[in-house]
Amino acid sequence: MIIACGVFLIAAGTLFAEQQRRPPAAPTPPVAKKITAIKAGKLIDPETGTTAVNQIILIEGEKIKEVGPNVQIPAGAQVIDLSKMTVLPGLVDAHTHMAMTYKEQPENNYYYLTYITDSSPLRAIQAAANGMQLLNSGFTVVRDVGNNALYADAALRQAIEQGWLPGPTVIPSGPMIGSTGGQLWPTPEMYKYHNIMYPEYIDANSPDEIQRAVRENMLFGAKTIKLCIDCKPWGYSVDDIKLAIREAAMGGCKVEGHVQTPEGAQRSIDAGIYIIAHGNALTPEHHRQMAQKGIFLTGTDTPFTDYRGSENSFKRTVAQLKDAYDKKVPLTYSTDFDYWNDRMKDEKTGEWLSRGELTINFLQTWKAAGIPAKDILYAMTINGYKASDIISERGPIKPGLYADIIAVPGDPLADIDALRNMQFVMKNGMVYKKDGVMQPAAFFHPGPVRIPSGRWPGRPPG
Ligand SMILES: [Zn+2]
Repeated sequence: MIIACGVFLIAAGTLFAEQQRRPPAAPTPPVAKKITAIKAGKLIDPETGTTAVNQIILIEGEKIKEVGPNVQIPAGAQVIDLSKMTVLPGLVDAHTHMAMTYKEQPENNYYYLTYITDSSPLRAIQAAANGMQLLNSGFTVVRDVGNNALYADAALRQAIEQGWLPGPTVIPSGPMIGSTGGQLWPTPEMYKYHNIMYPEYIDANSPDEIQRAVRENMLFGAKTIKLCIDCKPWGYSVDDIKLAIREAAMGGCKVEGHVQTPEGAQRSIDAGIYIIAHGNALTPEHHRQMAQKGIFLTGTDTPFTDYRGSENSFKRTVAQLKDAYDKKVPLTYSTDFDYWNDRMKDEKTGEWLSRGELTINFLQTWKAAGIPAKDILYAMTINGYKASDIISERGPIKPGLYADIIAVPGDPLADIDALRNMQFVMKNGMVYKKDGVMQPAAFFHPGPVRIPSGRWPGRPPG
């Protein structure tokens, strides 16, 4: 045995010496990145609400390289002719839930029951389908904030980053963090033994538990933190919220608070939260303070349709949105979409409305609030990127940023409903939709083509 080991060591030493004598291998030449040139008839800059004509957007691999009227198109570049279209950056739904859909049957729209009837894997697959439908309607970024079972949202983000399927850039929160009970009023059996439904919320009742819950979510892939501020009368104090904000910042995350009472809104504002979700409980004074402090609102402004809502609640929603706009609160486009029923059909064709079409239908509320098209577009893009905390890497059509680009035949600055007719969608420089037809094949890949960002430290994505 000793002899055998000795022989092995000598052999290994010889091999090592052999390797030392070999000349260093020539560096592998970098793989040439694909060049794509988009000819844009009109190009909207939502930041300024202006349009430039006859622009060329040059894309190298996943990122924008150059934009302007006289950009040279290199030989061999793929040219995409959108000269009859209006081109603009991709849209953002800043508050939705892709992995939960409560229904009239069998759960009577009671979302507690959806947690029991729909398994987590089923919900994750549904989230993947919802992501593709949202991308098809031009939504290239989605904040997915809770009610995602055990991290279906984070898994979807990874799957999309790894090239397994097309979808928007997902900003996942992981389970909502709340004081005992979360959004539910569970039975003692459910609460104490966590047999069913309890993955939906993390109970955090003390500073230690809040710290642990925030860290746990970031460990498992959250890119934003969602708190239930006042889901219970014993909700979070200003100090609790500040602690969550500090802890989240250590992992590069911002905090959104689910708010349903004026007191909860005030505590969130006093703590300096980044985003307040749901506009219903906010007073004009809250709006004033939010504008002053630059706190984003994900108002989740549900329209009144055949399939959802009532005239009275719609009037209240419109009045709240209008006041927030008038007070200059940083508004985002947000839906809180997490339901389905069999009335969700196109009036003219009788076809099912996709998740993307249902999402774009929220424009109805924004128009009813009398908000000009350019400001609606600003909320759907610039404020969406900022609330998602991604504006330095994706969103605006600028050199160095990821190419998330959409196009429609009409002019959204003149008529925001032009966004309903999405003809072209590009994500990370790859064409997902062209001439109004989805072409997802190029997105699917059997192995991880990209390392998910933030999961394996020290190994950057791309
Ligand atoms: Zn929500």
